[in-house]
Amino acid sequence: MTDHIDRKGLAPRFWEKKPLTKLNDKEWEALCDGCGKCCLNKLEDEETGEVALTCVSCRLLDDESCLCSNYEIRHQFVPECIVLRPDNIDEHAYWMPETCAYRLLWQGKPLYDWHPLISGDPETVHAAGVSMRGRTVPEFEVGEDDWEDYIIEEPT
Ligand code: SF4
Ligand code: SF4
Repeated sequence: MTDHIDRKGLAPRFWEKKPLTKLNDKEWEALCDGCGKCCLNKLEDEETGEVALTCVSCRLLDDESCLCSNYEIRHQFVPECIVLRPDNIDEHAYWMPETCAYRLLWQGKPLYDWHPLISGDPETVHAAGVSMRGRTVPEFEVGEDDWEDYIIEEPT
């Protein structure tokens, strides 16, 4: 979820060697694979707690790069954007995308081979077809009442 993910100079496979709570800020940020899926609007059923994903994206998501177009100052525009941290992932994991690196590690699962930290290439998340590149509709084009018509299955 950033306009630039710095993955240089990190220890090889650092995420396998320490728990999420022990990662430094750079390591934590580098875990993001750049899929853009957490920047989509979701619909949550208040009674069942079920979460449906839509392809209606946050106004700051860049559909081409799948990154936030103004990550550092995003809260000026999107105050509700969540800052995911090791100490709040427990409460957010349920709605996070299935392939999200934070959720996978939180579940004790390995990262996929297409993760840029493993492939060494930020494009592999797109080549694998698991990102939102070219698949989003900006929220300023679709009223909230119509989001239901834009429900999608998560690309995995
Ligand atoms: S879903 Fe996870 S891996 Fe994908 S952009 Fe969001 S934080 Fe990064
Ligand atoms: S402001 Fe929007 S695009 Fe940026 S990180 Fe938050 S949800 Fe994603």
